[in-house]
Amino acid sequence: MIKFLDLQKINLTHQNEIEERLLNTFRSGWYLLGNEVKAFESNLAKYIGVDHAIGVANGLDALRLILRAYIELGIMKKGDEIIVPANTYIASVLAISDNGLVPIFVEPDINTYNIDISKIEEKLNEKTRGILIVHLYGRVIFSEQLIDLAQKNNLKIIEDNAQSIGAKWKDKEAGNLGDAAGFSFYPGKNLGALGDAGAITTNDETLAKTIRALANYGSNQKYINIYQGLNSRLDEIHAAVLDVKLKYIDQENDIRKEIAKKYITSIKNSNIHLPEMPKNEEEHVWHLFVIRTNDREKIQNYLADNGIQTLIHYPIPPHKQAAYSEYNHLSFPITEQIHEEVLSLPISPVMKDEEVEHIIKVLNNFQ
Ligand SMILES: *Cc1c(COP(=O)(O)O)cnc(C)c1O
Repeated sequence: MIKFLDLQKINLTHQNEIEERLLNTFRSGWYLLGNEVKAFESNLAKYIGVDHAIGVANGLDALRLILRAYIELGIMKKGDEIIVPANTYIASVLAISDNGLVPIFVEPDINTYNIDISKIEEKLNEKTRGILIVHLYGRVIFSEQLIDLAQKNNLKIIEDNAQSIGAKWKDKEAGNLGDAAGFSFYPGKNLGALGDAGAITTNDETLAKTIRALANYGSNQKYINIYQGLNSRLDEIHAAVLDVKLKYIDQENDIRKEIAKKYITSIKNSNIHLPEMPKNEEEHVWHLFVIRTNDREKIQNYLADNGIQTLIHYPIPPHKQAAYSEYNHLSFPITEQIHEEVLSLPISPVMKDEEVEHIIKVLNNFQ
């Protein structure tokens, strides 16, 4: 059976190094806000090219904390509006509503699955304070037009970089394109921990300080609390693992790209719509390889019968979820079409050539 993602194999690639760091952390007797977190934050900041990286408990918290910090700093307030793609994982939207901010959904571009930047301006008003862009499936969404729009309207650009660590736009890393970025190191992400973990990157020192305090009970000094904060810290044990794996992220993303290229050049079936390789290949790190088809259930079952595991990212868009009943009446036809048609094929740095070729052959034989 070809697994959708073989996490065991991915992590065992670095077995010796990871086990050594884990053992050191275990034996150190220091488990929170210590040297491992410091080292990882410093290496992540260097890798992304930013001044500040802050480890937090998970990706949702990373995004929540950025917005919460903007509220504490008086830059946003409850009831303000944040632009967000209608086609995203629900966490992007939860981060907004959890802060009492209002998500304003914008349709995607059907070719990239990312937010259609040309449709943002019509949604802006005097309450709009930010644009939360999501580099979905690992593909960067950014443009000069977006920068102009944000500057002209005094909007913060927040990147949801959960799926796209290592992707670049014009030589700048995703995570260093807007005002602040949230990362997820959920085990299945391109850079995955051994449990929940996340981070925030920014060049804004005031924002970084505020986030650091908010994530630690609102305290910037032991037992001195300046905000009604939360507890959202990155554990030493996860930082240790992430610091090892960060060294290999470019190499591993390159393998993903090679697999994506093979799929794109070799899958030939009129029932299947393939994702496009961006003109600048470095704009995509292929967290997911997502095809579209009118025959999804049939193809998924056919692949399963042939020993190939697939997943759907995602079956129900946020505005159609029971959790957001207030938005259920809204209509986003492109988003809804995508959710009905998408299917994710296996892609990972540990897939064998034979496995990739088998998947291609099986798909080409589908009728
Ligand atoms: C995974 C993910 C998140 C949330 O990250 P967690 O670490 O699971 O909280 C947010 N946004 C996107 C686009 C994601 O894929």
